[in-house]
Amino acid sequence: MKVFKFGGASINSVERIQNVRRILQMYPGEKILVIISAMGKTTNALEKVTEAFFDGRNADALALFAQVKEQHLSMLKYLTTLHWKTAEDHLKDFFTEAEWLLHDKAVREYDYYYDQLVCCGELLSTAMVSDYLNEADVPNQWVDVRDIIRTDDNFRDAIINWPVTAEKVNQIILPLFQQHDIIITQGFIGATDENESTTLGREGSDFSAAIFANLLNAESQTIWKDVEGVMNADPKQFADAQYISALSYHEVIEMAYYGAQVIHPKTIKPLQNKSIPLHVRCFLNPELPGTVISNTPVHHLPPIIVIKDNQVLLELSSKDFSFVGDAFVSKLYGLFGKIKIRPNLMQNGAISLLCCLDDRTEKIEQLAFAASDFFDVQVKRGLSLLTIRHYSREKFDELTAGKTILLTQRTQETVQALMEV
Ligand code: ASP
Ligand code: MG
Repeated sequence: MKVFKFGGASINSVERIQNVRRILQMYPGEKILVIISAMGKTTNALEKVTEAFFDGRNADALALFAQVKEQHLSMLKYLTTLHWKTAEDHLKDFFTEAEWLLHDKAVREYDYYYDQLVCCGELLSTAMVSDYLNEADVPNQWVDVRDIIRTDDNFRDAIINWPVTAEKVNQIILPLFQQHDIIITQGFIGATDENESTTLGREGSDFSAAIFANLLNAESQTIWKDVEGVMNADPKQFADAQYISALSYHEVIEMAYYGAQVIHPKTIKPLQNKSIPLHVRCFLNPELPGTVISNTPVHHLPPIIVIKDNQVLLELSSKDFSFVGDAFVSKLYGLFGKIKIRPNLMQNGAISLLCCLDDRTEKIEQLAFAASDFFDVQVKRGLSLLTIRHYSREKFDELTAGKTILLTQRTQETVQALMEV
């Protein structure tokens, strides 16, 4: 059994959806669970729908949603002929579900509505691709993942209930594999005990695939992307970015931790626990070997570079020149937990704490305000955080040349520098 994950970019045109078919046809007779993300930028579009709805701009929300509908309906027209009507009805079921909500008034918290609306992206994409493939000689069974992946009600960042999910996989997915080779389902979404939709955090489909790989004891998981494999830097930022053929789970966890947009950080653990190799391969060129991520340690890696923009530096100084002791630090961590924000870099000094975070404006304001009860707070925005793993002095100098560095941290393996842009 294999688990495949196709991201939004791999299904954002008719040709690319046809290409998914070509890839699946490379594995005749194999049992494959296929996870598909929302098409193209649909998740972003649905976020806009949610914002409008929550602001009470119902007409705007419906108009924005109409665009999402239109994109899917017009795509479907190119993909299906014989079964177009049935396929259209599948999409319409989800349209109705969302529109019904959009006529309402928001009485619950934002994150709840976000999940009820945003989940529609993957439901639509998978229904569309599944119906197309069934018509195009790749028989498959579509599954609503909300019947399988059980979560708590921490909307937008829901936590998996592993025992219930495992039971559902055994009760529902395994028997389906006795009748079908290919099962198509959604990434990123799940549901609570009360059948409310939840999401697992942006880019969460990789993680969904890993949950299935773990519970199905899959022989491998493959993430199909638009790049040759994992690179040592973002090729959009570095023209000389290099492709890496093999990495250890450990290295990838570190890379994800520092913000490399390779793989969702939660993806690795479920695979590592069962030593399931993770392949990152290019959907544009499926003949290429891609990157394999496994238990095997890999030596002599090139410097791995991650740049996180839109960083903010908070300087928290004690109000009376006293030392910033444990009590302050623990208060600060209490705030991080409460506001649900995680520092990217921290440095303790005698009378001040420096802390670098993603600039999520609302949360930063909340944090700065709450921290001002016991600190003098200074905020500096518009910064960029450079991380180099397996760094050399030369690489560090090259990437920081001419920049003002506000904070540096170094370990044996990793150097980080917070810089003015
Ligand atoms: N569609 C979701 C997102 O764009 C999940 C994913 O693609 O992994 O974040
Ligand atoms: Mg994606």
